[in-house]
Amino acid sequence: MLGIRPLLRRGKSLARTFTSNSPKPYVVPENAWGRNRAARLELAAAYRALDTLGLNEGVCNHLSVVAPTADGRGEGMLVLPFGMHWSEVTASNLVSVECKDGQCSLLEGETMPEITASSIHLGIRQIRPNATVIMHTHQPYATSLACMKRPEILMVHQNSLRFYKRIAYDDNYGGLALAFEEGRRLGTVLGDSDVLFMGNHGVITVASTISVAFDLLYFLERASQVQVLTEAMKKEVQLIPDDKCQAMSDDFWNSMQLYADANFYASYRKLRRTQPDFEI
Ligand SMILES: [Zn+2]
Repeated sequence: MLGIRPLLRRGKSLARTFTSNSPKPYVVPENAWGRNRAARLELAAAYRALDTLGLNEGVCNHLSVVAPTADGRGEGMLVLPFGMHWSEVTASNLVSVECKDGQCSLLEGETMPEITASSIHLGIRQIRPNATVIMHTHQPYATSLACMKRPEILMVHQNSLRFYKRIAYDDNYGGLALAFEEGRRLGTVLGDSDVLFMGNHGVITVASTISVAFDLLYFLERASQVQVLTEAMKKEVQLIPDDKCQAMSDDFWNSMQLYADANFYASYRKLRRTQPDFEI
């Protein structure tokens, strides 16, 4: 069914949805098929938009969302099938996967995802069941910071402030995540944070909506880019004072969904103009 259930996150009760109540650029019916279709449209848009920004890694890296199946009989993890480039993703060619007792099977579609997509995303959800949306990339600037001995997003720019005390850092590279144990380990390190820096590997964002997970990835890369370029000048860096960081971070998060929707659906509309086949 729709999978609507109360969830606790940072003390707030949330319904298990993958989207907000804001107006959408698409229209779907209010039933399981419609919710499945909405999840497919939004996830396909996220793949395409992040591809245009160069944040993907060939056919690897993965974005996923837990959504009801179109027949309304259950819910699965929507993700891209193995071997598909992000520029090829459409709403209809995403696959839905479920895993029980370590065995994964397709609920929708014909090609399984890459193995690390299941082990990372489903492994994290075993530790953090409210992680409705998970996005994992090797986006270059954030990943370059993840390769440092003690990676840290410094509060050097306004874009950095939304990440103040919201990032978990994993400095224990676990190799290719070929088993659920690695996904569960990553989920344990992630804890209640919104972002995970995976040492010598990449980054993960987690959110209850596709738009916020997308927005976090976007601004994580922009914040990382500014930080790398700033430090490259090898001059003294002006950090934002700690007392301002918390207040500004709170401001960002109080309106996070609103601004994330604005950014994401603007990208959605742009894709409609430039590569409308993503909605097929
Ligand atoms: Zn990876």
